[in-house]
Amino acid sequence: MRFSTKLVHAGAPRPRIGGAVTMPVFQSATFELDGTPGYHDVKYSRLSNTPNHDVLAARLASLEGTESALVAGSGMAAISAALLGVLKQGDHIIAHDCLYGGTLSLVTRDLAELGIETTFVDANRSEAFAAAVRPTTRVFYVESLTNPLLEVLALDAVVAFSRERGLVSVIDSTMASPVNLRPAELGLDLVLHSATKYLNGHSDITAGVVAGSKDLVARAKHKLDHFGGSLDPHACFLLERGIKTLEVRVERQNRSALALAEHLSRHASVAEVFYPGLASHPGHARFKAWFSGGGGMLSFRPRGGLAAAERFVAAVRLATSAPSFGGPETLVTRPAITSHAGMSAEERARLRVTDDLIRVSVGLEAIEDLLEDFEQAMIEP
Ligand code: PLP
Repeated sequence: MRFSTKLVHAGAPRPRIGGAVTMPVFQSATFELDGTPGYHDVKYSRLSNTPNHDVLAARLASLEGTESALVAGSGMAAISAALLGVLKQGDHIIAHDCLYGGTLSLVTRDLAELGIETTFVDANRSEAFAAAVRPTTRVFYVESLTNPLLEVLALDAVVAFSRERGLVSVIDSTMASPVNLRPAELGLDLVLHSATKYLNGHSDITAGVVAGSKDLVARAKHKLDHFGGSLDPHACFLLERGIKTLEVRVERQNRSALALAEHLSRHASVAEVFYPGLASHPGHARFKAWFSGGGGMLSFRPRGGLAAAERFVAAVRLATSAPSFGGPETLVTRPAITSHAGMSAEERARLRVTDDLIRVSVGLEAIEDLLEDFEQAMIEP
């Protein structure tokens, strides 16, 4: 099966259950015992093994090109289960220095409390990796495109370094989605997603994914089973429905975000635009080598600083001021007061998350309507 066909059919039971063309929802917490002895083998929805979970696990492994996969109740449930599956007290992580805020908090606070330390590096600069590694380092953690500046990290160097040092390379690939990047093909060991974003794509559930080797996914599943982060069967059904249209949605978002980024980069009221599909983006060469599209997120700085940025966010009519991304609705935020609000001003300045930066998650509206909305919001009152 080609990728587009897998989105619709991979892992679906044949013969179809009761002839149903779409997978029915198995809204049952528990299932009749069939003689299987082990705790992790009994069918119970917390153990993520209902028919709805099984279809998704098989489909996601097929899409990512990995041996195995699992779904979880949120992106954070997937990330925490995956990391706790490979780390124990005394272990050490190397991580890129600009992570999604929830992950940053998880590693610097919760994992630190469990005796797991993290060293941050700029994963664009492979010459910095060796200085960060310790005898206890187990994991190298990166993201496929960073939020909100859309950096394309040196994933080839991360893979090479991790293999040389025996580390598990882990990537949160939420921003790329398997349409634009399949990290396992580049050699990354564990691929994580907040399926809340593109994979589900309708802004109506939270869900997460872990994909990788049988061993690494089994370790994550063991933690997920015990910490109780399973995805409800009805949310599994919605996620499977969303995945079927992933490619058509993301391809549209790729096109619209590129058109918007190009428009903004020519606009007299815009100082700077960040989108990996623009030739001016520092990660453009890597992007062209590995990605098939830039996704729906871009960010920009209007001329006129914070006042202009605040005015713009208040003035958009079609776009909604709300966090998250990957859904049908275009969303705008100022990362300095949303995703990066937990950081000090100095830390934000170091990461170039300036107060006037506006993040846009392009949805599925007509690009002409979006351009008109942005134009009216850009005009000074
Ligand atoms: N990873 C990235 C890149 C995210 O943007 C988010 C949420 O915004 C998460 C993980 C966490 O996902 P969830 O909110 O589904 O737990």
